[in-house]
Amino acid sequence: MSEHTHPPIALISGCSSGMGRATANLLAEKGWWVFATARRLESISDLASDQVTTLRLDVTDEASMVAAVDQVLEKAGRIDALINNAGYGQAGPLEEATADEIRCQFETCVFGPLRLAQLVLPAMRAQGGGRIVNISTVGGRVAIPFIGVYNGSKFALEAISDALRMETRPFGVNVIVIEPGGVRTNFNTTATRLAQRFATDNKSPYHRYFEPFNRFIAQSTKNSAPPERVAQVIHRALTIRRPRARYPATPDARIMLAILPRLSDRMKDAVWRWILRLRKETVA
Ligand code: NAP
Repeated sequence: MSEHTHPPIALISGCSSGMGRATANLLAEKGWWVFATARRLESISDLASDQVTTLRLDVTDEASMVAAVDQVLEKAGRIDALINNAGYGQAGPLEEATADEIRCQFETCVFGPLRLAQLVLPAMRAQGGGRIVNISTVGGRVAIPFIGVYNGSKFALEAISDALRMETRPFGVNVIVIEPGGVRTNFNTTATRLAQRFATDNKSPYHRYFEPFNRFIAQSTKNSAPPERVAQVIHRALTIRRPRARYPATPDARIMLAILPRLSDRMKDAVWRWILRLRKETVA
């Protein structure tokens, strides 16, 4: 997008911490006009500057999504990039996930990003182009036991991104998926907090898997990348002339995505059975 004479315009969801915040900072540094958003405005007040306009945006709230996109178009007159970053991971066994937990996960990671894409597309089509970047995860391509609700939402986001990419290409719009592995953000703290019920309920038939699951999460946190690294990948995807459809965005993601999707289902199941100690239960 270097051909623009005006600064390119980006709208980013979930800038209170992690990758959203790092991307807002990097794009501003690179000369973009960034509309950094969060559901609590006070969590991003420190980001406001000549390059960064802060707005309230809750991706589960229709009125808030409409208002945020309207404000970008009103202030900047165009929108070059939408970065659907806001998200969190609901952990716990699928059998025990409540309807509210499942609904909230899909509202945040699927319905919100798709709705925001719908809201920015008329402006992007009128401009003759734009980029929509959806932050997925390795878990959007490979399902992991006890993160099934989250995986389901990111698999859905990946499928929607593929269809949207093909549908909007004739209008010059690129839809790009970013697939990080472990990244040092608030993500694991939030996931652990949301999985508390699972952790403490020793009546759950799945209780004994919590410890190996936690160990696996702790291990991947140890090997995780800084969010600034993913921000660099997002910047590359926004500025390269012909972006790819998907970018594995951390070293562990590149390794996992090179191997896991090629394994048979039987072999993938065996890998997770081994990591999470999923042995046959004896019926009492
Ligand atoms: P993070 O530090 O927890 O940031 C998540 C952001 O999403 C926060 O700003 C949070 O805002 C926001 N958010 C959550 N629900 C929202 C809603 N309804 N409306 C608006 N904002 C909302 O985690 P992160 O790692 O940077 O996560 C960014 C994205 O990367 C997510 O989509 C996540 O699934 C994905 N991802 C993360 C990892 C990882 O290991 N960290 C790996 C792969 C993919 P509040 O402060 O208001 O909660």
